[in-house]
Amino acid sequence: METKLTIYNSLSRRKELFVPLHAPHVGLYVCGPTVYGDGHLGHARPAITFDILFRYLTHLGYKVRYVRNITDVGHLEHDADEGEDKIAKKACLESLEPMEVVQHYTLRYHKAMERLNVLPPSIEPHASGHIIEQIQFVQKILDAGYAYVSEGSVYFDVEKYNKKYHYGKLSGRNIDELLETTRALDGQSEKRRPADFALWKKAAPEHIMHWPSPWSEGFPGWHLECSAMGTKYLGEEFDIHGGGMDLMFPHHECEIAQSCAALGHESVKYWMHNNMVTINGQKMGKSLGNFITLDEFFSGTHPLLSQPFAPMTIRFFILQAHYRSTVDFSNDALISAERGFARLMEAYARLKKLTHAAETSNGEIRTLRARCEEAMCDDLNTPIVISHLFDAAKFINSCADGKATVSAADLKELQDVFRLFIEDILGLQVEDNGEKDDAYRKAVDLLLDIRLHAKQNKDWATSDRIRNELTALGFSIKDTKDGFEWSL
Ligand code: ZN
Repeated sequence: METKLTIYNSLSRRKELFVPLHAPHVGLYVCGPTVYGDGHLGHARPAITFDILFRYLTHLGYKVRYVRNITDVGHLEHDADEGEDKIAKKACLESLEPMEVVQHYTLRYHKAMERLNVLPPSIEPHASGHIIEQIQFVQKILDAGYAYVSEGSVYFDVEKYNKKYHYGKLSGRNIDELLETTRALDGQSEKRRPADFALWKKAAPEHIMHWPSPWSEGFPGWHLECSAMGTKYLGEEFDIHGGGMDLMFPHHECEIAQSCAALGHESVKYWMHNNMVTINGQKMGKSLGNFITLDEFFSGTHPLLSQPFAPMTIRFFILQAHYRSTVDFSNDALISAERGFARLMEAYARLKKLTHAAETSNGEIRTLRARCEEAMCDDLNTPIVISHLFDAAKFINSCADGKATVSAADLKELQDVFRLFIEDILGLQVEDNGEKDDAYRKAVDLLLDIRLHAKQNKDWATSDRIRNELTALGFSIKDTKDGFEWSL
């Protein structure tokens, strides 16, 4: 299989031609959510970014095994090695079993992802379900000599590792500086050096999530789960590892170190990172009052929002930016995204009803598919795809308004390309309230059909009454050569 997909590899810091290790199979691992809090935009962006990658690889004919984990243990407050486990803390506060907290947020996360039309991964492993694999991984690192046991905990020896490998190669952090400046912190720590990170932590007596291990009753360090689960399901070497840019250091840097130390080689061929979201130009944070959950976007119940925003508006807004650029959310920007999305989908709806008039082919339309593919192959450039679709939408509207005509072949191509890119690849769908919506559309169509007959029978009173009353309700009605069109 030969394609020209190029992706930006964070490790080499350049765009590279994507060549899978074992075509047609592709292994894709993405760091999923820590399920302890309400789903927010920070969850939506990586999920949508790698959903696009998953969809596009599948479209290219690859058989993708997509693994997206659930972090449900070991993600501690303050830094990766210290503080309380967030899930355990919540469980204690609310007298819940930790897995009740995990289940509650996992279900909410899945529901939000479904509304955003994010496809489920092939495997969604929980860190807590892979303790044995993580213990085995720690043992391999110990056997290789890159970790040490201290007071029942196991730490990764960054300085020793860095003598043979390169700690900091992904994030570009200067490890000498890191080791130098942090060398003489406190003498209290179990760690030999502050740069070392935990592979296994002995649980304090009040810690409610712990498992037996050769070193202590405890729990795995946060970075370990992705090394253990990625290689378990995708092999010691696999194609793509993705996640948010905020995970590059320390999480992904530590993953590389763990895999190299345990296996003697790197596991991941391409590292991909989506950029972050900001709200009104600021980093999102609880203390800044701009922490908006996905549910609040969908319901419009946040002081910074003037109205609810449909999940598809959020998805469209995110796809209007390239995944390596930042996305700044604001109420105004979302309102214009909502309008833009409605315009595109209206053109798509008109396209479905368009009839062809025998005519020569249009060059712009003939190259549309190739131009969209080219943009996707250029490191998943979704904003360019969207702009090509908008250009084609202008042509569709001209045809529907009777100002241009389309040949039979072009019409079929347009319909195929729109369905492929809008629905299958960008994963955008018409907001659908199911049967209710369907019944409502049929009722309006019926009224306008009665009006059409009334007009044909020169029953102006009935025809005007239907038109005026629907207009008063906020409908916009357009007469066309084939009958009518309406929108609300
Ligand atoms: Zn991870």
